[in-house]
Amino acid sequence: MKCFGKPLNILSFFFSPIFLFPSRIVFRYTSLHSMPYLTEVEKVDPELAEIIHREMAREYRGLELIASENFTSKAVLECLGSALTNKYAEGEVGSRYYGGTEFVDGVEKLAKSRALEAFKLNPSEWGVNVQPYSGSPANLAVYVGLLQPHDRIMGLDLPSGGHLTHGFYTPKKRISASSLFYESLPYHVNEDGVIDYDELERNATIYRPKMIILGASAYTRDYDYERVRALCDKLECLLFMDMAHTAGLIAGEVLKSPFQYADVVSTTTHKSLRGPRAGMIYFRKTDRNGNATDFEGRINQAVFPGLQGGPHMNNIAAIATQMKDVCSPAWKEYAKQVQVNAQALGKIMISKGHTLISGGTDNHILLWNTRVLNLTGSKVEKILDAVNISTNKNTIPGDKSAITPGGIRLGLCALTSRGFVEKDMEAVATFLERAIQIALEIQGETASMKLAEFIATFPSNDKLAALRKEVEEFSAKFDMPSFNGSDIKYKNGIPH
Ligand code: PLP
Repeated sequence: MKCFGKPLNILSFFFSPIFLFPSRIVFRYTSLHSMPYLTEVEKVDPELAEIIHREMAREYRGLELIASENFTSKAVLECLGSALTNKYAEGEVGSRYYGGTEFVDGVEKLAKSRALEAFKLNPSEWGVNVQPYSGSPANLAVYVGLLQPHDRIMGLDLPSGGHLTHGFYTPKKRISASSLFYESLPYHVNEDGVIDYDELERNATIYRPKMIILGASAYTRDYDYERVRALCDKLECLLFMDMAHTAGLIAGEVLKSPFQYADVVSTTTHKSLRGPRAGMIYFRKTDRNGNATDFEGRINQAVFPGLQGGPHMNNIAAIATQMKDVCSPAWKEYAKQVQVNAQALGKIMISKGHTLISGGTDNHILLWNTRVLNLTGSKVEKILDAVNISTNKNTIPGDKSAITPGGIRLGLCALTSRGFVEKDMEAVATFLERAIQIALEIQGETASMKLAEFIATFPSNDKLAALRKEVEEFSAKFDMPSFNGSDIKYKNGIPH
C-alpha cells in the first residue's frame, strides 16, 4: 500500500495525519491539487505568465496530433524546475571537472541504469550517454564519435520521411551539419510509402557508406532491421538506428527492438517516451561477436568535450524519473494504446474515403494524403489550427515541392497520454472530416487559391467557429497529465 509516494506500514498508518486528522488531509490533498500553477512567475512576470497560461489552454482545449509531441508528467516538470538547474557537472559520473557533484552523480547513475533497463539491455553489452541536449546534437555526436569528416553516410531522404540530421541536402545547398561535414547519399520510400530496400542495397553496394542510418520522422512502418544488418555486414559498415519517434513503442514491446541489430542507437526523450526535451545515445560495449568495442570512449568524448559543455542535470533527473515510468508495467499498456488508437483512427479515416500513405500504420503515425482531396497539406494544417487541432504538413510520395507538400502527419502519442481510447477516434475523425469539408467549401473550384487568401476567410466563417467550440468542449473532457483546466488563469478573459 502506498500513500503520498511512501510505503505505509501499520504503525505509521495509525499515527499518520490521514488517521488523526482525516478532514485536514483531504483539505491538504485538494489544496495541493488546486495549488495554482506558476504563482511566482505571475508575481514577477505577469506578462509572461499570461502567455504560458494561454499555451496551457491551447493544449488543454485542443486536439494535439503532432506526432513528435507528447504531454509529460508533473514529476518530469518538477525535475526540470528543480535546484538541479543550478549545477554544473562537466564530465562523467565519478570524474567531473567541478566539485559538489556527489548528488548529481546519483541522478545521472539512476538515469543511465533505468535507460538501459527500459530497453532490457545488459550493461556489460550496452552503455548509454544521457547528456545530449536533444535529438539533433545526439545524432551529431554519433557521427563525430564514430566517423571521420567526409565519411559517407546513407539515411532516409527528408521528403521520404527521414530527419534533417540524417544527411539532408538539396541540389542547391547542404542544409544539415550531417551533410556539411559528411558525404551523404539518401535512400527513399517507394510510391506506397515503404522504404525501398532494393534501392538502398543497390546504391549502398556502389557507394560503400561507413554508416547506414535507419529511423525517421514521418514513416508509418516498422523497419527491416535484419535485411539492413546483413547489408551492413556485407559492406562492413555501421548500422545506426535513430529511434527518436518510436522509442516509447519499442520500450513497450509494440515494435521490434533494434538493439539486436544496431551498433549505435539514438533517441529523443520527449516524443513517444513522454519525457523531457533531451537526447540519449546507446552504444555497443561489445560487438555482436562479444568482442570489446571502443565506442564508449568515442561517444562520450564526442558529447563532451566534443560538442557540448555542462550537462543539464535537471533534464537528466527528468529523464531518470521518466525512465522509471517507462520501466513500469503500465508503460506497455500505454504503448499498446498509442498503436491501437493510431490504427483505429486510420481505419475510420479510410472508411470515410480518405487515403493514407502505406495504407495504415504499424506505429503512432498516420500520413494522410490530402493531395487527392485537392488540398495542400499547408491549407489543411492551417484550417485544423483554426479549430484547435494541431498537426503538421508533410511531404508524401510524389510531391514535387516540400514547400507545398501534399499531406498531413498525424500522431497519437499525446492524445493517448490524456486517456483517449479507440472509441474517441470516431469523434477525432469526424472533426478532421468536418474541417476538410469547410476547407473544400472555402476553396470552391479554385484549388489554386493562395494560402494567405484561404486563411483570410477564417475569421468570418461561422462554421469554423462552431467547429472550434465543439473541438474545445470535447477536448476539455480529458485530463492533462500535468495540470487541470482549473489551473489555467487569464488576466484578460478567455482567449479566442
Ligand atoms: N531524429 C528524429 C527521427 C526526429 O524526428 C527528430 C525530431 O523531430 C530528431 C532526431 C531531432 O530531435 P530534436 O528536435 O530534439 O533535436
